[in-house]
Amino acid sequence: MKNRSVLVVEDNPMNRELVTELLEMEGYSVLLAENAELGIEMAKAHHPDVILMDMSLPGMDGLSATRELKKDPIMSSIPVVALTAHAMLADADRVRDAGCVAYMTKPLDADSFSKTVRSVLENGGHHTP
Ligand code: MN
Repeated sequence: MKNRSVLVVEDNPMNRELVTELLEMEGYSVLLAENAELGIEMAKAHHPDVILMDMSLPGMDGLSATRELKKDPIMSSIPVVALTAHAMLADADRVRDAGCVAYMTKPLDADSFSKTVRSVLENGGHHTP
């Protein structure tokens, strides 16, 4: 799983830092975007192997950003994993409907985080949480 790239779209600097650390420990290349618009641009430019998308972002939210990505014939193949706050657990269906293959709730658990990312990479996006 070396040299796989992961795009993290997250507005919270502490979460970005934590997620980056966890991903780099696994040997992935990390791309960071702090808002949805920038995230979509970076997905277009770099075509990462997986996108971790915070649902709560300033401006365009994570659900809308995922729908945008899924509309694009090239970017639609990139699996998107939603990062949600606990309060959003009930919105799992909306996250799925937008096109996310999995979701992770914050605060993130290091072990299940790494397992989920690995599983999504290995299954080419056909991951069921
Ligand atoms: Mn956020």
